[in-house]
Parts: sequence; structure tokens; C-alpha cells
Amino acid sequence: MPFAAPYAPADEAIFPTLIQFQTVGKDAMDMAARLVKGIRAAKTRIGGLEDFLRDYDLSTREGLALMAMAEALLRVPDEATQDKLIADKIGAGDWDGHDPSDAWLVSAATWGLGLSNRLLRPNDTVPGIMGNLTRRIGGPAVRTGVRQAMRFMGHQFVLGETIKAALKRAQENEAKGSLHSYDMLGEGAKTTADAARYAKSYSDAIAAIGKAAGKRPLPMRPGISVKLSALHPRYEPRNHEAVLAELTPVLRNLMSEAKAHDLNFTVDAEEQDRLELSIAVIEAACAGDILERWNGFGLAIQAYGKRALPVIDWAADLSRRTGQTLMVRLVKGAYWDTEVKHAQVEGHADYPVFTRKAVTDLNYLACAERMLALRPHLYPQFATHNALSIAQIIHMAGDAGGYEFQRLHGMGEALYAAVTRETDRPCRIYAPVGGHRDLLAYLVRRLLENGASTSFVAQAGDDKIPVEQVLEMPANLAEAPRHANIPLPTALFQPRPNSNGLTFGDADELNGLAKAMRAAPVMDEVKPLTAAQAADAMARAAKAAPAWRDTPVATRSAALNRAADLLEAHRPALMATLAREAGKTIDDGIAEVREAVDFLRYYATEAQALCQSRTMPGPTGERNEWRARGRGVFVTVAPWNFPLAIFLGQTAAALSVGNAVVAKPAPQTPRIAAQAVALLHEAGVPKDALILAPGGVEVGQALIADPNLGGVAFTGSTATARSINRALAEREGAIVPLIAETGGVNAMIVDATALPEQVTRDVILSAFRSAGQRCSACRIVYLQEDVADGMLKMIEGAAATLRLGDPMDPATDVGPIIDADALERLKAHVANHKPRYEGEVPDGLFMPPTIIELDRDHKLTTEVFGPVLHVKRWKARDLDKVLDEIAATGFGLTFGLHSRVDATIAHVTARVGAGNVYVNRNQIGAIVGSQPFGGHGLSGTGPKAGGPLYLTRFVEEVVVSTDTTAAGGNASLIAMEQR
Ligand code: NAD
Repeated sequence: MPFAAPYAPADEAIFPTLIQFQTVGKDAMDMAARLVKGIRAAKTRIGGLEDFLRDYDLSTREGLALMAMAEALLRVPDEATQDKLIADKIGAGDWDGHDPSDAWLVSAATWGLGLSNRLLRPNDTVPGIMGNLTRRIGGPAVRTGVRQAMRFMGHQFVLGETIKAALKRAQENEAKGSLHSYDMLGEGAKTTADAARYAKSYSDAIAAIGKAAGKRPLPMRPGISVKLSALHPRYEPRNHEAVLAELTPVLRNLMSEAKAHDLNFTVDAEEQDRLELSIAVIEAACAGDILERWNGFGLAIQAYGKRALPVIDWAADLSRRTGQTLMVRLVKGAYWDTEVKHAQVEGHADYPVFTRKAVTDLNYLACAERMLALRPHLYPQFATHNALSIAQIIHMAGDAGGYEFQRLHGMGEALYAAVTRETDRPCRIYAPVGGHRDLLAYLVRRLLENGASTSFVAQAGDDKIPVEQVLEMPANLAEAPRHANIPLPTALFQPRPNSNGLTFGDADELNGLAKAMRAAPVMDEVKPLTAAQAADAMARAAKAAPAWRDTPVATRSAALNRAADLLEAHRPALMATLAREAGKTIDDGIAEVREAVDFLRYYATEAQALCQSRTMPGPTGERNEWRARGRGVFVTVAPWNFPLAIFLGQTAAALSVGNAVVAKPAPQTPRIAAQAVALLHEAGVPKDALILAPGGVEVGQALIADPNLGGVAFTGSTATARSINRALAEREGAIVPLIAETGGVNAMIVDATALPEQVTRDVILSAFRSAGQRCSACRIVYLQEDVADGMLKMIEGAAATLRLGDPMDPATDVGPIIDADALERLKAHVANHKPRYEGEVPDGLFMPPTIIELDRDHKLTTEVFGPVLHVKRWKARDLDKVLDEIAATGFGLTFGLHSRVDATIAHVTARVGAGNVYVNRNQIGAIVGSQPFGGHGLSGTGPKAGGPLYLTRFVEEVVVSTDTTAAGGNASLIAMEQR
């Protein structure tokens, strides 16, 4: 049975099947109450994770600041940055709010800040302690203290730094009858070398666990969890074929090794976007007879996912087909926040996860019931710390056995001690194994998951909350299965709808789109205008302008909104032209159509506000009415690199406030412009109010010299903007506005507190996506020298995983360069330097992702418009010099910063001259209405595209002042009654 389930069904459709689980039987409720009381009776200080959660209320800034400090501190090699980070995080706290007898502070002092309980004196005030500590920064005490604290925490929450150490420690537990499942901590692989390293570490761990496993039969044998995203650097749905070909054999090897030792082998759950891919990989890996005589293979399923039940059914089917039991771990899911954000960012129709925690709890029970019913095909492993879920499962399961519970190492000890008094079912310990560096990321995750004051774990541990309240379910679930404060992704920008994205994780949708793109007809050639045709276009537009200006703004906006809908309806055809004409890959194409749609709707909305006439204040007997209206004929001049979004954005802005437009696309990309203009006409924009003017420099020059010109909106290179500016200055007649958005030499600064995996992801995207042919692309990254080597290694390794080729192939990351001239220019630039990295290229107009390291004195002063990333190293004390160097280029378009130090972020963002500043993320892909886009200095005149001031440059203002007393006196004043 192939797995097939809708990616993100509506909550309302699923909820009726879940509601029955809201009713809890009396026996189960009583048992749950006994379990909570058990937890409370066994409470210890500075013990398990629950104590820690209780003591560090994550809802406080201080709690988060301390975690963030510890997380980053461990990877910072230099003392100057360590001290900066510590001062920053301690400075962030509102220490006045804490009582010194506060358990929170005691804990904070014990581990996070390197103080010991003994150092606290009875009369200490909290600000006093913190002040003292701040003075000690710079001394080794705090740094050493944090490291010691890490060791303490490591011992608490990680079974061992190595599998050997973990196994040794597990022996004590096993003597008491506990089972283990080992989890190797770490981020997903970013490079092929990382993936190979993870595979080896899994393989070594399997051998070691197998050797220590003893003689008990499955399911009472130990296990290991394997993350597929650790085994492939590009574990992404659009990479389906490569992942299947490259990852499946690696997974099968590990499975065979685990099978040889008869271990439990669990494929861990990944993001919802990767669920179909994971299932495809598991299907492929289970082909043949690998599962024969092995009842230990399985997977983890996330109950917050709306597809959890179909996954269970698919797993049961796999079990039937292979005749083996699968061990299936049911979790609630640890990345809920990421899932919600992802769906919003990508413009999905709905969320693939439930938005209310209580609904996930119900789905957990629905899944549990299904899994229990599917015994012995499945051996359910219930990984939960929720006493109510546990009690309900015990009652659902009856006495037949055939399942187990799981708890996290360092958590749930008291709870499961109480569970053992209720049932003989075993509890397996999920045991993280890894070094301190990976611990914190894991711990922060667990804290976020369980530390929210609303979470079960936090409430169960809090004596002040009555037991009945801990076990209570929200009463309004049936009426409100969705979270009231989480709008659908489509409703993010109300009242205008968000543009539709593509669900890459839905293979049918992705493949359907790719197929429709290939099937889309190739557009006919679009011929450039002659000089006479250009003049004629301007004349016709001038004639049409007054009527369009006097059309009610609501009518103009309705036409633009209709055009947005038409664009979405014609998406495959538009994307096909974008791919053929501009080399846009599928993800670029989706983003470009979305941006164009957003522009249309945004300006349609903004124009309605701007074009309302307003009565201005003034003396009595006078009416002052202010109005904004179109200026006449705007010429819009667009670049080839956003031939749909920028072309339409400028044009829609001008049209929305009542200008007629003559729109000139770049000579490389006239077809997509012709398609866009045709859709605007279809949507109701009169033919002469919007005229397409294909052609190159000559056509542009003719339009700008034309006497009918009322304004110019230009996007392109700085040199062209200058030349247009000069041409405008030489014209006779009225001086018209010029809006110019131009290029940039965009920099990113990375300090030693940044997470290398995040830096790598964001540098690769910013520098190489769209073959670097974005005005916003990162051209130069400044790496703090203390971490530069490691970062560069990872960045180069990740660059090597990029695939260049046919833009219509979903697996392609980087498409071609726009034309042979541009490619020549890029090659000439690279030839003048000695690149430290150059990727491989297929035949055709391709430029390899290239990395050039510049020495201290070498400055990058011009825009290199392609996939060429420059790198420079900087010393921790020289941050301001780096900022000076960036400012000296004169450009100011985009800028990126990766740092965990808030003071650095504040300092840099205040000083840097770029129009768009991005912190701890990539620096491309500005969202209309959310991140208005445009630069300063050599990068443009402003106002920002997609921002609140943009339309104001496209209007002229009129004020009509009428003396209402002129005929017969001030009637309204006289009539006004005095009280
Ligand atoms: P370009 O300057 O060569 O051409 C832009 C447009 O101007 C084209 O339509 C071209 O035909 C026209 N043009 C050229 N000379 C002209 C003249 N004398 N009079 C009138 N029109 C003339 O730029 P391009 O190569 O198409 O685009 C890439 C450049 O655009 C890069 O520098 C990039 O940074 C910049 N860009 C900036 C932004 C932004 O928002 N700041 C966005 C995209 C691209």
C-alpha cells in the first residue's frame, strides 16, 4: 500500500474523529491523579530535568538569556568574545525581580554562572550578586564556571559523551531492569563528509551496543535511533531521486548491522515537509528480505502531525507485507514552532500540524488506540511524560501486553516510578549520547518543549496547581480546534490574502507543477519596438492617462487584485517562461510569482488609502481638500533578474494611483513581461493605460527623452541609473521624479558566537541561490578569524552539494547565467584572483559556485553579479574597522549579521548603512509589505518597494481650497448653536 494522505487537511475535518478521546473514564482519571501525586511526592532539588524546568521559568528573559549564553559560549574560542557574550546575557536580566532565596537563582548560580551555593551570603540581593558577577567578567572564574556547569548538566541529561561511556552508565540501569534506546546528538549533516562521519558513528554505536546487549530477546533488547537528515547533506523533498539513490544503501547497511545484533532500530521523525521522503526511503530500504527474522525495525511517528494516523496504517501494512513486527515510537513532536513558521513562510494552504496542544494530546490517544489495535504487527512504544496520556493508554491497552513506554534520560523518573506501581509494562530510557557542544541545542529544545508554563511537565511539578487542574482538558476544543492566535498562512497579511506557495513536501504537488511547466507552450518571440513605435506608445499612453486617473481607485485596485488571481491561476506557464528565459529554478520561480502577486495586492490596498481625498484642518468658512492622483505617464524600466516581480511591481505601483504606464522589460526577458501585461489587460487595465515596450538601451532612451514622460521607475545597475539621471537632467520641460533601485556590494559579518550550521545554510542561500544573480545576494562574508577555518570548511562542503543544471528539474539548485557576456565578465573576475573553492559545472552557460578569499588590504568595491562569494577574516577587536570598510564602498543595499550577542547586534544594526539588514538569517528574499526593499547611497534613491512610502513617489498632490463664505456669508458658523 503506497502511503497517500493529504498534506495538511483542515483541523475541522479531523476533529470529529478525535473528540471521543476527550472523555476520560473515572479509573483512568484516578490513575492519572495517583501518578501526578507520585511525581510530587518524589520531588528532589537539583535533580532531574523537571527541577531544572521548575527553577528556570523559560518565560523569563533571564532563563532564556542564560540558556542562550551557555549554548553559544561553548563554541566561542576567544576570550574577548566569551566575555562580551557573558556580559551581554547577564546584562539582559531583570535581576531586581528575583528574590535571593529564590530557588531559580540558586540553580542559576549553581550551574549557569559558575557561582557555587557557598558563595551566596544570606543578605545578598540579587542585583548585588549580578553586579558582583559582572565585575568578575574578564576573569577566568565565570568562563571556567560555565564549563564546569556544562559538565554537570551533561552528566544529568546526556547518558555519556561517547557511546562507550553511555553503555557503561547504562549497565547500572539495566541491572535494575531498564531498557535503553540510544540517540546520537547532533545537527543534520551539511556536507557529504559530515554525513559519512555520522554514518560511521552510527555504525560504531551499533557494534558497541550490540556487543553489550546481552542475551534477552526482542523487544527487550536495546535500540538506536537514526536521523536520516544526518545521513544525507541534502535530505530535502525536491532531492527525492538523489536521496533515494544515495541514502538508501547507507540506511540498509546500518539496518543490516543492527539486525545482526537483533537490536531495535528506529528511524527518527523529521520535519513534516520530509515525511513523504522518509517513507519513500524506508520503503526502499525495507525492500527484499532485510526485515526477515527481525522484529526490531521501526520508526518514530509524531502525533502533532495531521497525517500521523495514515502513517500508522502504512507502517502496519509494511509489517503485514514483510511478516515482521515493527517497533513504532509515538511522540508528540518537538518542532512545533518550526512547523508553524515554515507553513507561514512558504505560504501553505494550511498547517500540517495541529495548532492547539490539547488537540495533539487527543490525536496522541487516537494514534495510541490505533497502534494498540494493530498489535502484534506493531509493537507500540509510547514516548510521553504526560500522566493522563499514560493512564488512558494503560486502560485502553488491557492486559495483553505487547507495548512499552519511553522516557527521556534525566526526565520522568518519578513519574515512571509511579507508573511501575500501576502496570508491569516496561519503560525504555531514551538516552542521548554526545559531547557538550551538542547537548545545549538538545536541552534548549527540550526546555522549550516542556518548559512552557502551560506544559504538562511544568504543571505536574508545580505544587501550587491542584491535581484536577493539571489533568483538565480545555472545554472548548470542539468549537475551536484551532489556536485562536495563529491565523492560517493565507491570512497573515489581512485584509489582503497572502500569495500561495508550493508545498515541496507534497510530491504530487511538486511533480504536478514540474510537469505542467514542461507542458507549457513556448512563448513566441517578442520583437523590440522601433523608435517610432516607442514614441507612439508614449503618445497613446498620454491620451489614455486622464481617463485612467479619473477611474475610481476601487476600480483600479479591483483590476490589480484580479490580475493577482490570474497570475496564480497561470503559475505553471509563467514559471516555465521564467525558467526558459531567465534560468529560474522552481524555488526561484515560485518565489518570483509570489512576489509579483504580493506586489499587485499590496499596491491595490495601499492605493485605496492614499487616493482617498482628505479634508484638512483650517479656519471656519473655508474647506481644504487634499487629493493625491496620478502624474501622467510613468515609464518603468526593469532588469532581467526579476523579470516578473520587479517588472510588475513597478508597473502595478504606478497604475494603482492612476498613472498610465509604458513598461520596458530588459532585452533578455521580454516574453515573461508580455505574459504579465496580457494578464493585466485581461484583468481590466485598459490597453493604452498599460503598454509593453520591449527593447534595449535605445528604446529605454527614447522613452525617457519623450515629452510625454511624467516619471521613471527604474531597477537595474548603478551605471544605468546614472545615465538615466543625466538624460532626465538634460530634458526640457518639467523635472520628473526618478525612482532608482540599483546594485550593491552586500556584506555579511559573522562572529564566533554564531552557529556554524546556520551560517553555512544562510551563506549558501544568500551567495549562490539564483546563481548569485540577485541584487540582494551576499558578495562578501567577513568571518571572525578565530572560527573562520571551521566555518569555511563547512561552507565549502555545503557548496559542493549544490546541483547545477536544468532549472525545470526540481532537484536543481543553481540555474544558468543570463547570457554569454555576463558569464565572460564573471570568469574574467575570477581569473584575476586565486579562488579557494570552485564547484563543478555542466556544459552550458553555467558558472560554478566560487569562493575567493581576499587578504586584509584587498577591498571589494564593485558588484560581481553571479555565484562568486568573497571572504575576509577579521579580528575580534576590529569590528568597527569592518563596518568602516563596508561603508566605504558607498553601496547600502542588504547586509547580514550572525551573532548571539545582543549588544553587537544593536551596535552593528545602528551603524550599518544598508537599507535591508538581516540578523541571524539569510539576506535575500524580502517579503512585500513585511520587509520593504531598497537601498541607500549607490544602491538606490528609495522609497522602498513594497513599503508604505513607495506609492507617494508616483503621485502629484492637489489641494482645493474653497471659501465657503464667498456667497452670502458663513452660514454654518451662524447656524452653530451656542451652549
Ligand atoms: P541594467 O542596468 O543593465 O538594465 C536594467 C534595465 O535598464 C534594462 O531594462 C535595460 O534595457 C535598461 N537600460 C539600460 N540602459 C538604459 C538607458 N540608458 N536608458 C534607459 N534604460 C536603459 O541591469 P540588469 O543587468 O538588467 O540588472 C542587474 C542589475 O540590477 C544589478 O546591478 C542588480 O543589482 C540590479 N538590481 C537591483 C535591484 C534593487 O531592487 N535594488 C533589483 C534587481 C536588480
